[in-house]
Amino acid sequence: MQIYNTLTKTKEEFVPRDKGQVSMYVCGPTTYNFIHLGNARPLVFFDTVRRYFIYKGYQVNFVQNFTDVDDKIINRAREEKTDPLELAQKYIREFFADADALNVMRADTHPKVSEHIPEIIDLIKKLEQQGHAYAVDGDVYFAVRSFPAYGKLSGRSLEDMQAGARVEVDPRKKDPMDFALWKAAKPGEPSWDSPWGPGRPGWHIECSAMAEKYLGSGFDIHGGGFDLIFPHHENEIAQSEAACGEPFARYWMHNGFITVNQEKMSKSLGNFFLVREILAKFPPDVVRWYLLSTHYRSPLDFDDEKLVMAGKGLDRIKTALRLLYEAMELPVYQEEREKPVADGLEEKLATLRLEFEKAMEDDFNTALAISVFFELAKEINIFVGKLGGKVTSEEKKLLDKAHALVKDFNCVLGILKEDKMTGRLLIDAAGADDKLTEGLIQLIIKIRQEARSKKDWATADTIRDGLKELGIILEDTPQGVRWKKQG
Ligand SMILES: [Zn+2]
Repeated sequence: MQIYNTLTKTKEEFVPRDKGQVSMYVCGPTTYNFIHLGNARPLVFFDTVRRYFIYKGYQVNFVQNFTDVDDKIINRAREEKTDPLELAQKYIREFFADADALNVMRADTHPKVSEHIPEIIDLIKKLEQQGHAYAVDGDVYFAVRSFPAYGKLSGRSLEDMQAGARVEVDPRKKDPMDFALWKAAKPGEPSWDSPWGPGRPGWHIECSAMAEKYLGSGFDIHGGGFDLIFPHHENEIAQSEAACGEPFARYWMHNGFITVNQEKMSKSLGNFFLVREILAKFPPDVVRWYLLSTHYRSPLDFDDEKLVMAGKGLDRIKTALRLLYEAMELPVYQEEREKPVADGLEEKLATLRLEFEKAMEDDFNTALAISVFFELAKEINIFVGKLGGKVTSEEKKLLDKAHALVKDFNCVLGILKEDKMTGRLLIDAAGADDKLTEGLIQLIIKIRQEARSKKDWATADTIRDGLKELGIILEDTPQGVRWKKQG
């Protein structure tokens, strides 16, 4: 498996630290608002990476933190006249509502800063003892000059950084690029006791402390958006490697930005869209499909039209899946066909599985994996079309194999939810409501049939017209009454 490593700027063969296991840390949100589409991209992408490793049989340990202590949270809480930790807790709940909708698996551990202050203080103490950190007036700074490898992730020297950054010169700092590990408490802010007096952690130190606690040194994959490379991830490396003298994470993966009219989507530019606003207009499976339709390192442009297109693409998969499920219900004929219709389908399925894996193992090329999914849908359509309303037992086995492959592709990409009882994928985004809708419509159809058998045409018509108003069309076919949504 090849992974593009930001640290070495090359695609590298993935070798896990521990055989058969993958340890991953992905920086989570600062919980002071609902998440926006730019937050959803790494969320969905790294969930897909995790799912692929699980598909390959690895034991994955996935950690994603919540930054619940931060200036933005404190400021927002002040505006809303609420407690900062309560505000953070509220947006953690809202985060899970959006993540669940997008079918993102919960992390094995979701550590919060507020619950890891002792670990953070220990790490800062260690850095101070080793001469990598110094305290001034209750603040503690990391001394970037004490870590010669500083800049290795972003590929910038300290001189470049200083030229590029308009940092205010703080005479208390030894170098303008030194960054805060601990901030002295200001009145009215949440604070914890420490050897340097009451205060709270700076942003970067939390990820070093929590990754070390849950994954240990030299863990496998550290992920996040491009914008975290500098300074956040650069600082994480400096803190962790200066303290432990060992490599921190071995593969650094970063996803590209979401753009709106080629401009980066961000809060500061005011062109960002909340996941919630998008989910009000588009089903979550379509949003997820859209997010995976472009390679993760490329920019992904956003507008409604792109989501409409994604929905049309996903409909091709759903249509094939509907046909597949219908075919799986066909009666099995004992006799052989005169002319077989399977036409090497079994070999094609095996080839498609290999192609899908090859795409995913080439630096998680989900765009290519999706195109293999379309190929599979096409093969299913062709095969089902040739069945002519009946299957032999051999063909039934092939349908099951095609279904297993659809489920595996879907499980990696995380698009459709699965009905745990039947093992079938839920085709409509409303997923859980699907079976209920089907059951209710079948019940209504039955009542209408009963009315017709009693020549109660008025009731039968009322039912048909009423359903039509709801956009549901009944069709009388030789196999009985069928229903469909008005196209
Ligand atoms: Zn982080």
